[in-house]
Amino acid sequence: MVIDIIKAKIDVVEEIGLVVTLQKSGKSFKGLCPFHNERTPSFHVFAESQTWHCFGCNEGGDVFTFVQKQQGLEFRDALLYLAEKAGVLVEDHSSRNPEEEREITAVKDRLRKVNEDALLWFHQMLLRSREAAEARAYVQSRGISSDSVITFGLGYAPDRWDSLCSYLLGQGYTERELINGGLARDRTSGESEGQEKSSGVYDYFRGRLIFPIRDMRGRVIGFGGRALGDGQPKYLNSPQTLLFEKNSVLYALDMAKDAIKLANQVVIVEGYVDAVIAHQYGTKQTVACIGSAITAKHIQQLKKLTKQVTLALDPDAAGATATEHGIQEALKSFDHTIVPVPLAAASGWRKRNEPRGMIRLEEQVDAEINVLQLPAGEDPDEVIRRDFSLWAYAVSHPLPLVDYYFVAKTAGLNLREPNGKSEVARRLLPVIGMISDRVKRDAYIRKLATMITIDERSLHEELQRVLRGQRAEEAGFLGSAPRRGHGGVPQSSSFPSSEGRGKEGGLDRSRNNRLQWEDYLIGLLLQNPGLSPYVCGIINDGDFAGTDTRELYHILNSVYQRGSSSSNQSFEQLVPPALLATVARAQQCVESRPPRDGAGQVRDAVQCATRLKRTHLLQLNTELKYLVREAEEAGDVVSMQQLQHQLLEIHRQLRTIDSATHLQG
Ligand SMILES: [Zn+2]
Repeated sequence: MVIDIIKAKIDVVEEIGLVVTLQKSGKSFKGLCPFHNERTPSFHVFAESQTWHCFGCNEGGDVFTFVQKQQGLEFRDALLYLAEKAGVLVEDHSSRNPEEEREITAVKDRLRKVNEDALLWFHQMLLRSREAAEARAYVQSRGISSDSVITFGLGYAPDRWDSLCSYLLGQGYTERELINGGLARDRTSGESEGQEKSSGVYDYFRGRLIFPIRDMRGRVIGFGGRALGDGQPKYLNSPQTLLFEKNSVLYALDMAKDAIKLANQVVIVEGYVDAVIAHQYGTKQTVACIGSAITAKHIQQLKKLTKQVTLALDPDAAGATATEHGIQEALKSFDHTIVPVPLAAASGWRKRNEPRGMIRLEEQVDAEINVLQLPAGEDPDEVIRRDFSLWAYAVSHPLPLVDYYFVAKTAGLNLREPNGKSEVARRLLPVIGMISDRVKRDAYIRKLATMITIDERSLHEELQRVLRGQRAEEAGFLGSAPRRGHGGVPQSSSFPSSEGRGKEGGLDRSRNNRLQWEDYLIGLLLQNPGLSPYVCGIINDGDFAGTDTRELYHILNSVYQRGSSSSNQSFEQLVPPALLATVARAQQCVESRPPRDGAGQVRDAVQCATRLKRTHLLQLNTELKYLVREAEEAGDVVSMQQLQHQLLEIHRQLRTIDSATHLQG
């Protein structure tokens, strides 16, 4: 396989040595990490395993990962770069052609321009046209000032079939451009009865107040339209276009970004009006999510600005679910340490029929996710207008995640009745059990004890019982004991012996096992992309030992996160030809095993992921121990302390993963 040939020809120490000044220390090499700022080296390259790892910023991988990260290359390009160096020929049918690139840029520029022209037209309509009277009245009724109308560029789409279209066609745009820009629909695609026969397209937005949506750089990429009167749907957003990717854009982020940095906080609300009003009254660190859920892509962007994420979603029942979902997305995306977060069902902790083992190890480091508490039944914009000080206080005193669970999970229970008390304990103890920090955990036990006036000690005992009970119930996880009834965990021994993947030594065998787990996981994901969310909270690309499986995982994940709505490029198109053999191998790995139902797939995928994470952590543990010993021998006290500290961190993560493993079923 071409990747193996390249890796055999290129030495990772040599390659990294071109960029980082490496100093030999024992069997490894160390240097200053090129990916984060540091004064003492925590970047290590291991010649034996041909891997590198920075114990400061936790980046690591093989020579491919290094080249990709250091040069900012896609895998495909890193492959071409390294292949050329190694003198290996790689076939690449799909290398991008510069002419095509230029063409796409030109199309995008044109789409930006048509959106910009549409914005001006919508805006003028709202300001001046007689038919916008109702829209202006609505704006006023929601308390939006004329300053805000101007700054946010609000507009109005008349309730007619072809007003914007005929204007833009008159400006020289083609019908195709209007459709591609998300401003018009093709008349043949339905919904067009009753319109005048003036052209082949009709307006996408009709009878709506228009909120222009901009990218981070302030360029208009799409629109959100709120129905005036009882038009349906109430909110209509631009369709997916070359510019507008619904699940990655945050409304008002362009205007909020400076304030977010300044306040070191971002407040996420649900509605456009909420965001506009929040800005109008001075809380400019506010953005709105477009669509119903916060996705990892949203968080990716915010991460660059702040690690303080405050969710201010609707306080009603539906909103509470959205909030929980938002929390999980938020947690998932702020990485490095792992924190187990249950996949809580909307009502109660877990639905009866939900497959067990649905606890994801969320990644959360310096992120602080909290939830804004607002009076029930009031939207943020109403609260702001009624009593700004209430809002301002809520924004500066949001509820930490666990405290939020304390409130959300106890709503509607009578805490004075014995039944209510035990129900509260039943719902909250599992949450408390998942806090890895002991001091914090004790504090929450105390809080719960006070809440239901029960002796703290008995709660501690109950907590132990809860944890033990789950442990007993879930014994057999990760292949120690056979599972009742159905096939259960893929035992490493049950894999067919691998071919062509290295020698059969002790080390090689464990590496082979690991690679087989990776194949199996990739195979499962290929078979059922819906498994992705169960897995991506547990592992990230870096946990893969195989270069090929790592890249496939990366592609699968990005395709899944982009969603089916944006069918720009399918998985098949994204896979470099060099990886097709791996795809086949992974599929075969799944096919050679007994078929699984949905819950079984989830279980296997979670188990694979957990095992991969654990193996990776154990590998880091071994490397670290070795480095500690080395520093000890060299009498390097500073390094020793640093490494010990990192060792503790790895241990903490291992404990977290183990305790979550016990919570899984
Ligand atoms: Zn680093």
